[in-house]
Formats: sequence, C-alpha cells, structure tokens
Amino acid sequence: MRTLITGGAGFIGSHLCERFLAEGHEVVCMDNFITGNPVNIEHLQANPKFSFLRHNISNHIEIDGPIDCILHFASPASPVDYLRHPIATLKVGSLGTHNSLGLAKAKGSRYLLASTSEVYGDPERHPQREDYWGNVNPIGIRGVYDEAKRFAEAMTMAYHRTHGLNTHIVRIFNTYGPRMRLDDGRVVPNLMGQALRGEPLTVYGDGSQTRSFCFVSDLVDGIFRLLMSEFHEPVNLGNPNEVSILDFAKEIVALSAGKNAIEFRPLPQDDPKVRKPDIGRARSLLSWEPKVDRKEGMRRTMEYFRGLVMKG
Ligand code: UDP
Repeated sequence: MRTLITGGAGFIGSHLCERFLAEGHEVVCMDNFITGNPVNIEHLQANPKFSFLRHNISNHIEIDGPIDCILHFASPASPVDYLRHPIATLKVGSLGTHNSLGLAKAKGSRYLLASTSEVYGDPERHPQREDYWGNVNPIGIRGVYDEAKRFAEAMTMAYHRTHGLNTHIVRIFNTYGPRMRLDDGRVVPNLMGQALRGEPLTVYGDGSQTRSFCFVSDLVDGIFRLLMSEFHEPVNLGNPNEVSILDFAKEIVALSAGKNAIEFRPLPQDDPKVRKPDIGRARSLLSWEPKVDRKEGMRRTMEYFRGLVMKG
C-alpha cells in the first residue's frame, strides 16, 4: 500500500505518517511548511518506506506510480494561523481538495478529507451530531476556514456521487498532543507555554465557553478505521468530555504545580460558545472510542512543551 498524506509535516499529519508506516504502508508526505514543520518528520526521513515532497497542493500535482490512499490534511488549522493566511486557507480547502480528489480519481485511491467541527460554526444544537447543518458566519474572521471546509465536504461528496470515488470525511474536534506548535495560538499550547514560563494564563471572554479535547493518538486511530471503512458520509471524531475554558486553565495551573494567575482577555469574534461531539456514529460504525483521558493526555503534552520551552 502506498499512501499520500498532504500536510504530513503538520501536527496531526506527522502522527498519521507514523501510523501508516507502522501499518506497513509506504508513505509519501507532502507539505509546503506554511504551518507544518520539518522537525516533525525528521525522525522518519531515514525510513526507506518514507518519502517527502515539498509542494503546495493548491497547485496541480502529478505523482508517478500507484497511490492506494490519499489523506488530505493540508491546511492552516488554528484560528490564529488561518487569520494569518486567510487566502491560503481558502485555497487549500477548495483548490487543494479539488487537486487531491483529482489525483485520487486518476489513481483510483481511497480518499479521506480532514474536515472539522468548525462546519457547525457557533452551534445551536448540543452536542453536535453529523446531521446538524451548522451556524456559520461566512464573512466573519473564521469564515475562511469554515467555508473552505464546508466546500471541501461538498466537493468530496460530489466526487463520490459523480465518479464513484471511495471517499471519507472526518469532522475533527479539538485535538491536542505532542508536535502542536507552541506559537499556533490555540488554547492548549498558549496556556501550557504560559504555565511553563511562569506567565499569567490568558483566558478569552469569561472562560465559560466549552471545548472537548481529544488526544492525538485516539484521533489517529479513528481516522485509520474510517479510511478503511466503506462509509462515505461525515463522521465526528473527538472526545466528548467537555470542559469550560476557565476550568481547563485551572487544570493546567494545577498540572504545572505553579501558582500562575489567570488573566481575562476579550473574546475573539464568532468564538463558538460550546462544542462537544456526539460520537454515536463513530462508536457504532468504527467501534471507536477515545481511550486517553484528559489528565494523562495533558501530562504527556506538557512534557513535550516543557522540552520546547527549555530549548528556548
Ligand atoms: N482561548 C483562550 N485563551 C487562549 C487561546 C484560546 O481562552 O490563549 C479560548 C478561545 O477563545 C476558545 C477556546 O480557548 O474559546 C479554544 O480556542 P482554540 O484557539 O484552541 O480553538 P477553537 O476551538 O476556538 O477553534
């Protein structure tokens, strides 16, 4: 099996590269390093089954030889990153999805699109089930990501329905773990970095907004199962254990054994007030369930960030 992973040098992408290599696949990792990091795949470069292509999937690509599976993970994925790269975010969700689907059609590959809980926007239903269509502001600051991913889902279903492609769509909820960038702006690296540096933790708004955090190894396992399934409609993957951002910040202070203060900052525009996946579909279709609880996952992630902070 030969598998292409776009965004393979990113946080989730690099864990996928490892998992597919461990499953015995040849892995072709593609990235343009707009938000990915060569360090994430350094340890894989000596593996003869691993190869790397520096390319922006928003531009047309031809690859020699067979490709059995394509996982399209290229995209800026944190609010700070997609605000920094709004047009690249729109392009990789639209043109990048089109190009990768075109490649899948040419090669007859199984295809998996990385979609997102952001397709639900600021949800009016809780928890979010796959049959909820969402509440997205198309012209808000998050619109570049949300609408690109909604377009990507539509394009993926069109290739499935029109060309009979074996496609899969995963809606990824907040995921964390080693290889997140300390400066990606998301709540986990921000607060952990602040805790480790002895700075106040920045909580946006009053911290009553909720999120549900999934450890990366659980997510990767669900993705592998979904790709190998014959199910074509979107599937939520995430950990339904919901927490308010203020309580989460307090957990991080306790974990770092510090006495960090909590500092309240303005809530960014269109910040979803709640988010929690209904994972009934993944449970029944994939026999999947997250295994790593938040305490353990946060401990492992904190160790990773401690290493980065100590390196400076
Ligand atoms: N957040 C926060 N402090 C930070 C970074 C984020 O309070 O330093 C909040 C943010 O406003 C949001 C939640 O944490 O309510 C999760 O934000 P993140 O950027 O991780 O991703 P999102 O789930 O909003 O896409």
